[in-house]
Amino acid sequence: MHELSVAHAIVTTVVEALPPGSPRVNEVRVRIGALSGVVPEALQFAYEVAVDGTALADTVLLIERVPVTVHCTPCRTDTTLEGITGFACSECGRPTADIVAGKELEVAQVVFSEPATAGRQS
Ligand SMILES: [Zn+2]
Repeated sequence: MHELSVAHAIVTTVVEALPPGSPRVNEVRVRIGALSGVVPEALQFAYEVAVDGTALADTVLLIERVPVTVHCTPCRTDTTLEGITGFACSECGRPTADIVAGKELEVAQVVFSEPATAGRQS
């Protein structure tokens, strides 16, 4: 199952990025592009399996779905597509394969249970 390895990668990335003594993680936010090949529902399920026994156990995975956006050079226009087909400019209708968004597969944000203190008091 592809999503399970993706979920493991997300968990590993976040856990390794956690500073020592950091507050408990509440929520992990990821951006999943429509062309990333990851099924959000499957990733959600896989995440719950992947966090088991890690520092991220009982945290929530929040998935932001990123639609496909293509760029048309003659019009200098970006078109956000409804799905993952019909790669064409909304202005002139020309087909375009210049994808500017939709391949994302990244950790966007980690939300901690306590608000991070900006500028520690001495
Ligand atoms: Zn165009």
